[in-house]
Amino acid sequence: MSERPRIIGIDLGTTNTVVATVRNRVPRIVPTDKGNLILPSVVALSPRGDLVVGGVAKDQVVTNPKNTVYGAKRLIGRKYDSAVVQELKSYFTYEIVAGPDGDAAVSLGGRVYSLPELSALVLGQVKTIAEQFLGGPIDEAVITVPAYYNDNQRNAVKEAGRLAQLNVRRIVNEPTAAALAYGFNRGLDQRVLVYDLGGGTFDVSVLQVTGNTFEVLTTGGDTFLGGIDFDNRIIDYVCEAFRRESKIDLTQSPIAMQRVKTAAEAAKIDLSLMQNVVLELPYIEERRGKPVDLKLALSRQQLNELTQDLVDRTFQICDDVLTEKGVARSQIDEIILVGGQSRMPLVQQRIQEHFGKQPRKGVHPDECVALGAALLAESLDGIDTVTLIDALSMPIGYGLASGRFRKIVDKNHRVPTVKSFRVPPPHKPGNAFVEIDIYQGDSELIVDNEYLGTVKLPVSATGKRIDFRLDEECLLHVLVEDAGDPKEVQLATRDTPEQLKKAIAEKLAKRNPLDEREAAEKGGLFSSLKRFLGGGS
Ligand code: AMP
Repeated sequence: MSERPRIIGIDLGTTNTVVATVRNRVPRIVPTDKGNLILPSVVALSPRGDLVVGGVAKDQVVTNPKNTVYGAKRLIGRKYDSAVVQELKSYFTYEIVAGPDGDAAVSLGGRVYSLPELSALVLGQVKTIAEQFLGGPIDEAVITVPAYYNDNQRNAVKEAGRLAQLNVRRIVNEPTAAALAYGFNRGLDQRVLVYDLGGGTFDVSVLQVTGNTFEVLTTGGDTFLGGIDFDNRIIDYVCEAFRRESKIDLTQSPIAMQRVKTAAEAAKIDLSLMQNVVLELPYIEERRGKPVDLKLALSRQQLNELTQDLVDRTFQICDDVLTEKGVARSQIDEIILVGGQSRMPLVQQRIQEHFGKQPRKGVHPDECVALGAALLAESLDGIDTVTLIDALSMPIGYGLASGRFRKIVDKNHRVPTVKSFRVPPPHKPGNAFVEIDIYQGDSELIVDNEYLGTVKLPVSATGKRIDFRLDEECLLHVLVEDAGDPKEVQLATRDTPEQLKKAIAEKLAKRNPLDEREAAEKGGLFSSLKRFLGGGS
């Protein structure tokens, strides 16, 4: 056995977590003790008061929804006061509260857990699984995150790793890991598009792979477009057909809806292999004390018609992302599929039509991210060095007194990087300190971006050079000129600034029902979440 510390690669997913390791230079997925290759990313407080993780936790979601936490990947590293958390709060069935640091947290059985604590339970479980499989302690990991994760979210995942007793050697973007699984040590010179359609999100990245250098050229996506939206189309279709035939509205019964949801997803997955399926749910409801069964045929053709626009939307996003960087479709050499929903035959057919080539076979959509993480992990101290050059997925800048956002580092800027500017004067003349509230996001307004923290400097620092340095993990460091040299300063606070709180309150107060409908149509988020969580509508 080697003397080096044992290291694993972890794909910490919204729905499932996958862990991989490299043995004899070959990466492979570590099976759980039950022989599965995935662990549901679910944590629950059992009725007996124990915290349980994985399949056992997932099993109790219908019976114990208040104490079952999933979708944690959507909340981790977000401020409780942020617009996203405020919106999500009413749709998750477990209780989201403000943690002591102002971040979103979860209350389970009267105790408040931070999101890093909850994610650490999942990471701890995969650590144990890997230790059992490999027969020895594991102390280090490379963990993947979505390319669009901001600084807070990346730091929170690192914190989760630490809490799980893992030295997180590196946070790496999921598409980069997928490209690594494809191109590592193959001596390629190719432009690769990673098309990642998962359970809840769609991401696309274009990378230049040159030998073992992986450079992200451009990246984008829709954080509320994924497999759940496909399921919802089937659910709507089934409920409508059942209502027409039996005059019974299933949407009124959470238990029936949960069964329809499970059957819809299973039918969707079966239709990736078969042309026709029959959804059968005996005793879905009762009428006058008598059971009413649901039986409905669904063909692949029908599913394609129900979801065509969702698939089209992913290609629109691909085109936008390519246009941003001036890359033509014909310049893409390979397409790698990631995420379970990319296995749908319609997706593969449309890829052929859109890019004029088949997606790459042999790179497993559910496994490549974890395998790439394991390869990177192994390379950190190994002989095959890997160079990763990233692109910033969302601009970073600071808030102006007007509530507008001044960009310092642009989207798709190469990372690592340093961008310098001058310390602005304080918002109000006469203030003893300059407070620079740092934000990340695509909007021109701070209220729509994510708040990262505040740097507080004496007013005498006005006009001095300040650097935003982004390291290879896309983590932000702030340095201020001090006697001619740049010196790193810590964020004075991560508590939401008053200016932002006010702006959020105004925004929420202004929202009208039309916006809600628009949001639902755009991303299907809120209806999706309700169904995702089995909460009925
Ligand atoms: P992921 O987040 O990558 O685990 O993707 C999960 C999503 O992929 C879920 O919405 C699944 O229903 C969907 N999925 C898994 N397998 C298939 C398949 N064979 N065909 C279509 N969708 C699938």
